[in-house]
Amino acid sequence: MHHTQLYINGEWRDASDGSTAPVYNPADESVLAEVATATEEDVAAALDAADGAFADWAARKPRERAEILRRAFDIMSGQREEIARLITLENGKASADAMGEATYATEFFRWFSEEAVRIDGHMGHSPASGARTLVHHKPAGIGVLVTPWNFPAAMGTRKIAPALAAGCPVIIKPALETPLTMLALMPILEEAGVPPGVVNVLMTRRSGPAVSQMLHDHRARVVSFTGSTQVGRILLKEAADNVITPAMELGGNAPFIVCKDADIPAAVEGAMVAKMRNMGEACTAANRIYVHESVEEEFTAALTKAMEGLQVGNGLEPGVDVGPLVNAATRDKVAEFVKDAVARGARVHCGGEAPEGPGFFYPPTVLSGVPTEAACMHDEIFGPVAAIQAFADEEEVVRLANATEYGLVAYVFTRDMAKGLRISERLDYGMVGLNRGLVSDPAAPFGGTKQSGLGREGGHAGIFEFMETQYISTNW
Ligand code: NAD
Repeated sequence: MHHTQLYINGEWRDASDGSTAPVYNPADESVLAEVATATEEDVAAALDAADGAFADWAARKPRERAEILRRAFDIMSGQREEIARLITLENGKASADAMGEATYATEFFRWFSEEAVRIDGHMGHSPASGARTLVHHKPAGIGVLVTPWNFPAAMGTRKIAPALAAGCPVIIKPALETPLTMLALMPILEEAGVPPGVVNVLMTRRSGPAVSQMLHDHRARVVSFTGSTQVGRILLKEAADNVITPAMELGGNAPFIVCKDADIPAAVEGAMVAKMRNMGEACTAANRIYVHESVEEEFTAALTKAMEGLQVGNGLEPGVDVGPLVNAATRDKVAEFVKDAVARGARVHCGGEAPEGPGFFYPPTVLSGVPTEAACMHDEIFGPVAAIQAFADEEEVVRLANATEYGLVAYVFTRDMAKGLRISERLDYGMVGLNRGLVSDPAAPFGGTKQSGLGREGGHAGIFEFMETQYISTNW
């Protein structure tokens, strides 16, 4: 069936004290598996394994590392259906959505196989001393990777692939809600030729102490985290003690701006992707939908029609578009956001009531007239709720969009490209979807400003999160 043990030094192991934790299927609340949960001893074993593997992996020629990653891409490409099925089972997202994630996740191996052989340095000539400066990049050391449950495959491969390309071994700690997908990737990496100890996987019930133990081991040199801003702050403080390089992909509160001259059907299509990918449980999810007052009625009606057309159910069943949310707490939080918005005067166009269980379902919901004071305009909804507010002019909407501590992604829809670029530049966000509802792309630098994070994943930048720059100053 599924792999459920810890993966340390290329071996499957039970926890040293035999402890386990259940993994649930959010569609029916059944237990899918019991997975091993690491003790302090297991964490120490993973650190030793990664450390033991480091020198050899770092010394491999870039082409060799690249070809192993490329094989991982080829093997994983052939197993995308099985991986997508596992994603649906433990995360809930519908099959097509899960297949989209499996494909996206797989691409990181191809992209970074190509980047592994393009790590250029440069030579300079010091203007004052005349010395030659030879600048090059070295693998940083052990990477500690901590990932969330919303993209169980992609958030892992987005970190594993660049780390391996750079020459770093890693210890990955997936979320306890969705560890099975990450474990399923290990035989793929093994078959591709990744040596024992280069990638280790630990599940734990003690996330705080386990990650802290790793970050206080002098051999760990990078912590790459994807998750909530709240936990990101904790890890930044933990990383400070040993001055470990942080790469942080944190929460979002994406504005989705529909200008009066937007192509409305295209904007609705974009909003459906930006809102409904992974049932809205995405850091990139459109959280605040600002629509120009002259087109608000038309946009709301069209979005409502599209949302009503989605079929909710067990993500493995054919025809289902929207699966359950990951757990009861997430579902209840979404229900609270809707209640709060309605109490403050928002109008419900569709959805708005959670069905009876089993399963943590919440229906696609459209709200209009959502006031700025509503909680869902400040916090991540993380569910299938589209919150619409009308705006009157460009100045106002840019101010509203930027009035948040988050800065991950924003979306703008307009037929006027110059205006779209002007607004995009004024948005204090790491990424902008201009007439597009999807920005995630292995070939582009993913990341946010302000409290949405530090650093970039993917693109040319991603590999440098796992490298140290050194220069050699010399004369001849
Ligand atoms: P979370 O922060 O609760 O958990 C993320 C990971 O951190 C999990 O593996 C969890 O076990 C671990 N963790 C929790 N407490 C910890 C601690 N004290 N020390 C060490 N590790 C700890 O987030 P989540 O609920 O799993 O995921 C949702 C959040 O992730 C949202 O805020 C979302 O926006 C964010 N996210 C961001 C991106 C991005 O790229 N910016 C991508 C996906 C998700």
